[in-house]
Amino acid sequence: MSNTEKTNLINLDRQAMQDYFAGIGEKPFRATQITQWIHQYGANDFEAMTNLSRELRARLTEIAEIRLPEIAQDQLAADGTRKWLLRLDDGNCIETVFIPEESRGTLCVSSQVGCTLNCSFCSTGHQGFNRSLKAGEIVAQLLVANRALGRDPKGERIITNVVLMGMGEPLLNFDEVVPAMRLMLDDHAYGLSRRRVTLSTAGVIPMMDRLRAECPVSLAVSLHAPNDALRDELVPLNKKYPIRELLDACRRYCADSPRSRVTFEYVMLADVNDGVAQAHELVHLLRDVPAKVNLIPFNSFPQTQYRRSTKEAIDRFRDVLIEAGLTTITRKTRGDDIDAACGQLAGQVQDRTRRRQRLVARVGVS
Ligand code: SAH
Repeated sequence: MSNTEKTNLINLDRQAMQDYFAGIGEKPFRATQITQWIHQYGANDFEAMTNLSRELRARLTEIAEIRLPEIAQDQLAADGTRKWLLRLDDGNCIETVFIPEESRGTLCVSSQVGCTLNCSFCSTGHQGFNRSLKAGEIVAQLLVANRALGRDPKGERIITNVVLMGMGEPLLNFDEVVPAMRLMLDDHAYGLSRRRVTLSTAGVIPMMDRLRAECPVSLAVSLHAPNDALRDELVPLNKKYPIRELLDACRRYCADSPRSRVTFEYVMLADVNDGVAQAHELVHLLRDVPAKVNLIPFNSFPQTQYRRSTKEAIDRFRDVLIEAGLTTITRKTRGDDIDAACGQLAGQVQDRTRRRQRLVARVGVS
């Protein structure tokens, strides 16, 4: 640590916090206290931490900080969905979305500024990529949203579930995503159960195995196609990690906890992947995987060549899966009037991949 740079404690999970306090000659239980102050009570500064000695508070003020991203924009959709645009230290902005439902409140958090995967139907992919988020920038999304939403009349938190389904591919930022999730699960921080934290991946197989070993949370997999030929087109990562190997990894993921199932996400694209024959192909593919299926009506964005499947096509597709015994739900589109729906999160990415420039050159979009 240089003299000028303070350690931002928001980045530290409890183990890292313990190491930090050991490093400055303090007792390990301080790590628990500070974690609680920051994440459970939402303290802004060290002076608020009344169970620390005056000396320690002064010392921490000098060498450490609790710095959060700034809220650049706060939008509320007609259906109660709320989206925050958060500005990071380097000027990039990411998006975080709160989705209220009858019996739960879900926060959808981002893991990267932009995304490298370039799935053909996703708006984030079209923005290019700048960098991965730090653990603190991931967990701060929960902190900021909790602060903004407050608690319900019973004193319970409004946010009951977290999904890593925002911008980015969480498993390509494993080393920062895992400490962030550990804080979400930590009883001295957010105390969410593993069932209520869901990581969604396009299928980075080696990291799925690491996740199972190091931080098993609920898993969602963006499948979107019933065969490799089509999936290669929609999710280019499939060329590296094809479906058969992906499903093997899913089976391994569920093997340890017999009651768990993988949620397969399947975006419904008119005349691309929404046919009855494709539904049957999907049934066959998932026949021996502990699976649930989430059908996601495609959400449009500028410059896309895709269209959303009709309601009839989605219902027909769903019925084939249900008749075959697959638990299937059609995800409700939420917050689309503020571009907060699946695949619409764009943030403000200072693109370093030049993807946008290439796109502009090729098809003349602006
Ligand atoms: N990279 C991870 C996390 C992003 S999750 C993953 O791929 O799983 C975002 C979810 O929304 C994914 O299932 C993604 O495939 C889906 N999605 C992306 N673009 C979409 C769009 N335009 N309409 C509907 N769903 C979309």
